[in-house]
Amino acid sequence: VVRIAGLRKAFGEREVLTGIDLEVRAGEVVCVIGPSGSGKSTLLRCANLLEEPTGGEVEVLGVDVTDPDVDIDRVRTHVGMVFQQFNLFAHKTVLENCTMAQRQVLKRSRAEAERIARANLERVGLADRADAHPAQLSGGQQQRVAIARALSMDPQLMLFDEPTSALDPELVGDVLGVMRDLADGGMTMIVVTHEMAFARDVGDRVVFMDGGVIVEDGPADQVIGAPREARTRTFLQRVL
Ligand code: ATP
Ligand code: MG
Repeated sequence: VVRIAGLRKAFGEREVLTGIDLEVRAGEVVCVIGPSGSGKSTLLRCANLLEEPTGGEVEVLGVDVTDPDVDIDRVRTHVGMVFQQFNLFAHKTVLENCTMAQRQVLKRSRAEAERIARANLERVGLADRADAHPAQLSGGQQQRVAIARALSMDPQLMLFDEPTSALDPELVGDVLGVMRDLADGGMTMIVVTHEMAFARDVGDRVVFMDGGVIVEDGPADQVIGAPREARTRTFLQRVL
């Protein structure tokens, strides 16, 4: 589903990714951990060309997204993104937030888009809040709306960038629960997270990044429970 080889990214003189190799197969859940500034967000953003790589290959859903002729919007249509900030439209209802892209991009009828949106709101436990505005919801509920919105586009890949970092601690569990259900349902996911218990339990693989490279990549239990690399151990000792 994702094949990244030799990926480099520089901002001006500064290289923040210095040769990343990463493959994600269908149905796999890969959790990316690592210190602040290690390049985790930049890696995710290169995967759907929110950032343009300065070198290497990035193939997403069978499309080489570094090809200058690529129709990136077509690839992005099938890739759901959920960020730390929920980016919901404040002046639209929950239901409208979940139907807009379906109608504009997928050209679904209003009735069909609403049926799909309601099914996904049900899935994230918010069926009864369809007519609310984002400001009337808690942060955790807003993040679950953002997930329902992404799911309504029938993504083949979901990218999460610290989806629970902006939430009050008591709201984190509900969002992680929704993500766990998605993973159990077979969704292919790359999740940047500071939630080590989630990474260990839900991740098939854990990737530890530091200083713009992947230091360690392996089964979740091994990387978190018995890391091979000294840098991974040092990081885990600090966060666990
Ligand atoms: P965090 O855990 O804090 O979110 P991260 O691992 O996601 O960190 P990135 O956001 O990928 O790290 O940033 C990696 C490095 O690239 C940082 O040093 C950051 O300052 C730099 N960087 C990121 N985006 C830009 C940009 N648009 N322009 C210049 N430098 C950037
Ligand atoms: Mg980040």
